[in-house]
Amino acid sequence: MCSAIRASFADPHPIQPLLAVLPYGSRFPCTEDKLIMVATKSASLELSESWLRVTVLGIALIIGAFLALQGGTSLLEESMRNVRDGFRTAPASGEIIVAEIDARSLRTFQSWPWPRSLHAQLLDRLDAAAVTNVTFDVDFSSPSNTKDDNRMASALAAFGGTVVLPTFQQASATDSNEKLENLPVKAFQGKAFLGSVNVLPDPDGMMRHYSYGVVTGNVPRPSLAALMAAKPGRVGSEFRIDDAIDPLTIPRVSVADVINGKIARGELAGKTVLVGATAIEMGDRYATPRHGVIPGVFIQALGAETLLQDRINVPLGPWPAIALFLLMSLIIMKSKTSTYRSGILAATAIAIFALAFVLEANFLGSPEIVPALAACLAFGAGIILDGVNARIRQSQIIDAQTGLMNSRALETVLARDRAAGVIVLSFRNFQETVSVLDSTGQAQLLDGLLERLQLASFGSAAHALQPGVFAWSTHGSASLTETLGQVEALGALFVSPVRLGSRAILLTPAFGIAERQALSSARVLSAAALRAKGALENGQRWSVHSEAAANASDRAIQLLADLETALADGQVWLAYQPKWAIDEQRLFGAEALIRWRHPLLGPIAPDELIPLLEKEGRMSQLTEMVLDQAIADMKTWASDGHDLGVAINISAPLLCDEPFVQMMLARVQDAKLPSGYLTLEVTESAAITNSEQVVKALEALQGVGARVSIDDYGTGQSTLTYLKSFPANEIKIDKSFISRMVDSPGDQVLVRSTIAMAHDLGFKVVAEGVEDAACLAKLVEFGCDVAQGWHIGKPVPKAEFIARIEEALVSSRQAA
Ligand code: C2E
Ligand code: CA
Ligand code: CA
Repeated sequence: MCSAIRASFADPHPIQPLLAVLPYGSRFPCTEDKLIMVATKSASLELSESWLRVTVLGIALIIGAFLALQGGTSLLEESMRNVRDGFRTAPASGEIIVAEIDARSLRTFQSWPWPRSLHAQLLDRLDAAAVTNVTFDVDFSSPSNTKDDNRMASALAAFGGTVVLPTFQQASATDSNEKLENLPVKAFQGKAFLGSVNVLPDPDGMMRHYSYGVVTGNVPRPSLAALMAAKPGRVGSEFRIDDAIDPLTIPRVSVADVINGKIARGELAGKTVLVGATAIEMGDRYATPRHGVIPGVFIQALGAETLLQDRINVPLGPWPAIALFLLMSLIIMKSKTSTYRSGILAATAIAIFALAFVLEANFLGSPEIVPALAACLAFGAGIILDGVNARIRQSQIIDAQTGLMNSRALETVLARDRAAGVIVLSFRNFQETVSVLDSTGQAQLLDGLLERLQLASFGSAAHALQPGVFAWSTHGSASLTETLGQVEALGALFVSPVRLGSRAILLTPAFGIAERQALSSARVLSAAALRAKGALENGQRWSVHSEAAANASDRAIQLLADLETALADGQVWLAYQPKWAIDEQRLFGAEALIRWRHPLLGPIAPDELIPLLEKEGRMSQLTEMVLDQAIADMKTWASDGHDLGVAINISAPLLCDEPFVQMMLARVQDAKLPSGYLTLEVTESAAITNSEQVVKALEALQGVGARVSIDDYGTGQSTLTYLKSFPANEIKIDKSFISRMVDSPGDQVLVRSTIAMAHDLGFKVVAEGVEDAACLAKLVEFGCDVAQGWHIGKPVPKAEFIARIEEALVSSRQAA
């Protein structure tokens, strides 16, 4: 139905503002989201399928879980951690001081490697400065000269605090799988702790992790940092160097200054001093995510600071973040629009990140967030798809011109609420009114209409069926009286015009109402729309659908469809009703009346069929058949010796149908009937139009020998004087006056004066509806020319009619 009534505005500019009627009286411009709300609130239309969301969530979780179990995201995970660390900074403790073998030290002492005696001097100076621990990040694994090694050995032995010397692993030159341990020369071992200095960068070359210790040559060795911080840990386990510690805050001194005694007294007392190379020419540099490329000695220092300050975050794995995602997704699943869902999803991603940050900032552990974020991303992609999907479906239920929901949406509402009925509102003069307005005017008009609609649609959203046609559902529990009350109230609102600036526009509403009863959702809507159309056509304020009326229109459709076959199959035939010439006292002809026995519906009364065919403009085919049949019958009867005239009925509109009139003229001429045998009965209403075309047609037909009779005289508004100028030969007084006449003196006066006056004007007079002898007697008394009616004879098939004529002939002969 909706496609059939979908039409475009007379003005090509669409109505601009998108307005909707919300339940309980609030109205707002319809952004798409709000429209979805309208749809979901009032029409219970879920635009976004929840099963789709469940599936998307499932897929997202599988992706998250897969990544969580499979690992392999560590680099990404580490980068995310570095981003978080970027939000925190912490100073070094100041307990560890780096003694730099810097460019100045190299310049001061020229050669490199330095003689061991120089390290021994350094150690002595540090001892003198009351340093608690000296840790060397300097290779002592190969012997130098004996004198210097001995000097170093004795300095080590003499040192008051503790000394840590490095060990490191190297791949064997012959077998890369074999790990060789480089230890300080024998002379130093036993005089110092040994700590491993091996640090390994991540696959991206970044230095992020530091180990508690390693096993080298079957001997477990603590790392340099673990020894400096005095924080032992499980050998082989790693911790993350805390990025937040700023290496620039680690106090540093130049080895040259220490050896040359240029360090302030007490500056190093009680501290740990880490000796290592920082001069660029020494190499030994590592990339860090936050602090750029820094000397290895600072990696050692940062590792030690991390341990010393307990800035360790144990790995928490991916599950805390996934749990948070799962929690938030429950809220996402509940939210109505894709915008909300996207918003909450973005909030979820931020929350996951924030969770990790807060945990790490408080050293409660470090969760993996990449799997959860990946799940968010997958869910987000799904939500976008779902949103697009919803938008597409939304566009299918929204009327583009008004922004209201369309008939399709209303059908969905009706399909869900099996008790709901429909009210359709049309406006009598909508198209004409709209066509003279510009687009702004149209928009304002629509605005005005919707404002009123909203007042009286009682909580149901208005739907736009086509320009100027709106509909909404009624409560199944509402009685027809209540619905009519609603319609009357709304109708009253339209009594005053809609004001557009200085212009006042009066729109006259017509309502169609269909209660649900047993109708389907599509039927109830089309029934109401049909009633609104009917109300418009008939000038009614409202019209209520009734099953009986609907059946009638179904029947009309069937009749129209079957007519063609009926004509071809001979289901349609002519009944002849005899006419009695009063002064001659004989049957002289008949009126031909159409009869149709439908194979399924039985006899179809002409009073049903003729108006239907007239309305549909399909009278010509039937009339042609009547004319042909009547002519053929007259000819047959004439050849059988019966001179009988026939009157046929002609629908008024046919007389304006030029080809039809031409056809009639040709047929009548070809028939070569004696003049006056064929009478054409035309209703008084046709005569009264007196259009030039009708007059011309009738005159032409009279010209070829047909008579013209004014049928149903008395039912119209014409006067005989008026008819004087009309090309007619007789008048046929309507049966309503004739059949009442015997009991009604008033009608007698009327009939008598009509007959007299018609005679004066030169018309023959026929009385139809003569039902009894008393009536006929009166007509005889009044001087009527012809009588027709049940008393004379009912309309009968032609065989019966001829039998009747022959019988009358016999009896008249007998009488003679
Ligand atoms: P009408 O032209 O006024 O035809 C007379 C109607 O009155 C016929 O009804 C007839 O059966 C009925 N009638 C005859 N005598 C009496 C009587 O004594 N008392 C009463 N109460 N009724 C009587 P019918 O056959 O049902 O036709 C109804 C109408 O259908 C006709 O009214 C005519 O307007 C139309 N009609 C029938 N056949 C044709 C046709 O071929 N073409 C056109 N255009 N109209 C036709
Ligand atoms: Ca008639
Ligand atoms: Ca009549």
